[in-house]
Amino acid sequence: MINYDALYHISYGLFIVSSGNKNKGNGFISNTVFQVTSSPAMFATCSNKNNYTSELIKQSKAFSASVLDTTISPTVMGVFGFKSGNDIDKMNDMIIQYGDTGVPIVLNHCISYIECKLVQTIDMGSHWMFIGEMVNAEVIDDSKEALTYKYYREKMKGISPKNAPTYIEKPEDNTIDSNNSFKKYKCKVCGYIYDEAQEGTTFEELPDNWECPLCGVDKSEFIEE
Ligand code: FE
Repeated sequence: MINYDALYHISYGLFIVSSGNKNKGNGFISNTVFQVTSSPAMFATCSNKNNYTSELIKQSKAFSASVLDTTISPTVMGVFGFKSGNDIDKMNDMIIQYGDTGVPIVLNHCISYIECKLVQTIDMGSHWMFIGEMVNAEVIDDSKEALTYKYYREKMKGISPKNAPTYIEKPEDNTIDSNNSFKKYKCKVCGYIYDEAQEGTTFEELPDNWECPLCGVDKSEFIEE
């Protein structure tokens, strides 16, 4: 048997993996950035083949990874976690530095970053695995706590987007508690659940300028569960 809940106990960090150049840059939130060798220091990351950033890594032959902190704003989470670089310029209005290879490095909510030149690309079916040699690294602000997948799931109530390597398709729980008049509303963009019973405020009562605490979209993007 496979109990998929076992997978939620594997520890991961959360990072913004970016590539491209000054004219055309993109990035996405990834939980798969890990060091594979120490001398030379090599890192691997996985990116869905449909991700725009995958194309840019192949073109630029380099990528950066910014280590995120737990104070990440819904705006930054929404842009890098739940929007496509085919639709918007994600680097617009972000704090960007360009690395030795020319790739963008996102400094919003960044504890530290690494920059790698691409040395190998492995076909993993749905994803590419990119392996890069570190050419540059810096600490930006180590006073904050690094964001982990566990923190994202448990404290921020986030879920894995469908493009993530860790996305698990599970049957929905359709159990209805008939004694419960509270409703749940789901964000169509990021999957965040607003649970009236937990929040103590009905969704209706929330002010018009209320935003999804995870991805920053407004109330109109929510549907009743
Ligand atoms: Fe959302």
